Amino acid sequence: MLEANNLEVVYDDVMLVLRGVSLKIPEGRVVALLGANGAGKTTLLRALSGLLGVHDGKVTRGRVTLDGEPIHRAPPARIAALGVKQALEGRRILGELTVEENLRVGGHTAPRAVKRNLERMYELFPRLRERRAQSAGYLSGGEQQMLSIGRALMSEPRYLLLDEPSLGLAPLVVRQIRDLVVRINADGTTVLLVEQNATMALSIADHGYVLETGKVVMDSPAAALLADEDVREFYLGLR
Ligand code: ATP
Repeated sequence: MLEANNLEVVYDDVMLVLRGVSLKIPEGRVVALLGANGAGKTTLLRALSGLLGVHDGKVTRGRVTLDGEPIHRAPPARIAALGVKQALEGRRILGELTVEENLRVGGHTAPRAVKRNLERMYELFPRLRERRAQSAGYLSGGEQQMLSIGRALMSEPRYLLLDEPSLGLAPLVVRQIRDLVVRINADGTTVLLVEQNATMALSIADHGYVLETGKVVMDSPAAALLADEDVREFYLGLR
């Protein structure tokens, strides 16, 4: 289980962004993390994956634990080696490299498994197989998002943290991403899914959290969140 306990995070030593957030990601599940722009969702992902330091952020209270062991002081490479991996936003792929080179970069921590994992990625993402020799910078938005997810999966993480994989994509592509997340989870990877698209996220999640200005304001089974009229209207923007 990956867990945040009463987590407080500050940027640049002054800006308090997470104000005592607790969240549990039990092995095998899909957990959705929802909330408006600026609520602190990306910051929470960074705290879980160790990338906070790269952004001048710091855990000032509380902790992150993996199977009960604190990991919030560990560098991202160590956390990745323990099996927690954040897929960087789709547009952060290495545009100068080819699709396959990007995937190989993602697999550098599991060098003996690169061949097998490349094959698995091409099976999951047939578009990436077709475009494997092409510069990643020329991929469409949806393909870049898939490459970003594929690159993270190359290290065979136990926990995959996804930051708005459907952002800016057409409905058909959003459905493809949704189906992929379902498949990745069925293959054994636990997923934390940050989404603005609440309906999509809750339709595949077991549990959902809603973050508002750095605090958890809802913490319920996904089906209950989807069914609750007030939640739908006030927190999810649905009617
Ligand atoms: P969005 O949906 O817009 O991505 P979010 O819920 O992911 O929003 P965060 O990106 O975690 O929210 O940002 C939370 C707050 O922290 C915002 O006010 C943002 O301006 C601030 N913030 C984020 N990154 C940094 C940083 N590196 N340095 C300073 N402040 C930051």
